[in-house]
Amino acid sequence: MAIFSRSTAFTRVTSIAAQRAIHAAFTWIHNNPKTLIDRQAELVAIPAPPFGEQARTQWIAERFVEIGLASVTTDTIGNVIGFIPATHLPADSTGPVVVLSAHLDTVFPAVTPLRPVLTRDNDANRLAAPGSCDNAAGVIGMLALAQAITQAKVHLASPIVILANVGEEGEGDLRGVRHFYNHPELAGRIAAHIVLDGAGADSAVTQALGSLRFQVTINGPGGHSFTDAGTPNPIVALATALANLGLTPMPEKPSTTLNVGTIHGGTSVNSIPESATASIDFRSTSSEELLRLEVALHRAVEDAVDQNNAAAKYNRKSNRGLLTYTVKKIGDRPAAQLPADSPILETLRAVDRHLGIQTDLRLGSTDANIPIALGIPSLSMGAGGDGGGAHTVSEWYSDKDRETGLRRILLLCVAMTEWAAEQ
Ligand SMILES: [Zn+2]
Repeated sequence: MAIFSRSTAFTRVTSIAAQRAIHAAFTWIHNNPKTLIDRQAELVAIPAPPFGEQARTQWIAERFVEIGLASVTTDTIGNVIGFIPATHLPADSTGPVVVLSAHLDTVFPAVTPLRPVLTRDNDANRLAAPGSCDNAAGVIGMLALAQAITQAKVHLASPIVILANVGEEGEGDLRGVRHFYNHPELAGRIAAHIVLDGAGADSAVTQALGSLRFQVTINGPGGHSFTDAGTPNPIVALATALANLGLTPMPEKPSTTLNVGTIHGGTSVNSIPESATASIDFRSTSSEELLRLEVALHRAVEDAVDQNNAAAKYNRKSNRGLLTYTVKKIGDRPAAQLPADSPILETLRAVDRHLGIQTDLRLGSTDANIPIALGIPSLSMGAGGDGGGAHTVSEWYSDKDRETGLRRILLLCVAMTEWAAEQ
């Protein structure tokens, strides 16, 4: 394995930045802001709720072919994969690859009106639409880089895999990237992975905030509120469980949170409910904390159900049946941290130094959780420009200085292909 240091990274980035083809790629980006924002407006008009990304999958597959990516395929769950081959390697070589990815899905249900509005504002294009920043900025940035690298014939020491993936948001639970890591030809060959998510050129997510999500359901025989009185009540048991869970101590460090997000149940005010259900979200930077909370949840539900069943036993109606429960895991994102001396971070620092910018390291839950937890040099970063209102219908994106963000990613990506080839 090659020895890696900060100065090696800076030398590498400086020499890459001096290449004529890199200048040509930068020029392509500089000359095409209108193409990019028009594509972005086209993309956001296509609905992409979690588990409903098919129309976007098709659109992006067409774009991949149009810009000249090699071996474009769509996998069984809707991830679209294309290749930029290495300059001097045969197409069927099986060496290391660098992945550049962006998620296609949005948080918005299929019924959300999309109607993108494109305006000019302070010498920049402004696009207002749900999903315009998260993650149309990432997808369009990725497409722009792939096109610039291909057209400028940038020298690549290892292939770049371009991945437009499904299932990042919410209950998608990173299923797109998770599935990609089982790819029959690529598994084990991924040397580095750059995730593009949202706007900006001043931060990177290197700490993967883990999360565990559960759906708790308590069922019972139900009945008439008066004539079946004494039958154990699922809503009461669920409320007891959640109240006790809420008393679980939560450390500030490692940063750990608990949320009860939804609660449903019951038929009417004069019916003993047959069912009650709640969804719960735990987050932490520590997998041990997540495990501790998972145990606390199981204990709280089991205790509450036992208590309520025991109370019902002393009642003459108790032979009607008792409460049962299920705790179903509906989300599982691993917690992990990119090492401070990771080659991708050293390289990003070198790129920043070259461009005269600075990166703040952040904590987040992104597609990069999966590779970081696998020990692969990986981070999630913005694709340039500015944006706001993520996950709301008033979301917006501005392409002001998108160029700097794209240059930053381009240099990082090309430098990582060289690093990968040396491994
Ligand atoms: Zn996102």
